[in-house]
Amino acid sequence: MLLEEMSWNIVEEMLETVKTIILPYGSCEAHGFHAPLFTDTKLAFEIANKAAEELNVFIAPVIPYGICRTTRGFSGTLSLSFDSLKILTYDLIKELAETGFEEIILFTAHCGKSQMIALREAGFSYTKNSHKSKVFLVSAADLVDERIKKLTESPLYHADELETSLMLFLEPSLVNMDKAVKETPQVPKYLIKTTGRPWMKSSVLGDATKASYEKGEKIFNLLVDNLVQIIKDFQTPLM
Ligand SMILES: [Zn+2]
Repeated sequence: MLLEEMSWNIVEEMLETVKTIILPYGSCEAHGFHAPLFTDTKLAFEIANKAAEELNVFIAPVIPYGICRTTRGFSGTLSLSFDSLKILTYDLIKELAETGFEEIILFTAHCGKSQMIALREAGFSYTKNSHKSKVFLVSAADLVDERIKKLTESPLYHADELETSLMLFLEPSLVNMDKAVKETPQVPKYLIKTTGRPWMKSSVLGDATKASYEKGEKIFNLLVDNLVQIIKDFQTPLM
């Protein structure tokens, strides 16, 4: 059900019975010395893809950029501005709605504060002007429950035990555990800044050294289960 792999006429045909689409968001962002820049993009795609298989819903092409304010300044981090992400998302929601999708799920594996606000604002602007389609916003962080926290030994923030474990499971050839570190940078909370780089060495926030393939496999399946359940709840007609 990958939109990009289908011809338009098949999409039109399938839209007669399937009205739900997931629009996944990743980022191009520093994830430590040990993991690739497209970590969030890979996670967004794989989680959404597995959930979509179970639910029989469409998936739109992944947006490979996000708003990455803390990791700006690390080479390869490419951050969008707030307005760019909001306008892009608003345009895509409108286009998806006009195509006939009635439930549009914005699913982001990059969960920064500005990212979440931009996506929410885009959905809000659309909903204020049209009731044609419903827009939902779910982040990977929303899917982390007590079962997942029990599987991990360290607090979860960024390029950490959780993300690294998932990448060891999904794309092990791009993870170098010899370079994984534990870092808890003291980024000043109340200072308005354009990058967190002066306070960070590796761009890891958490403990990537605790990651493993086994944890990644279990965590991945739980994240997918939780997304499937959330989408099933959306699809239940509101009373
Ligand atoms: Zn990430």
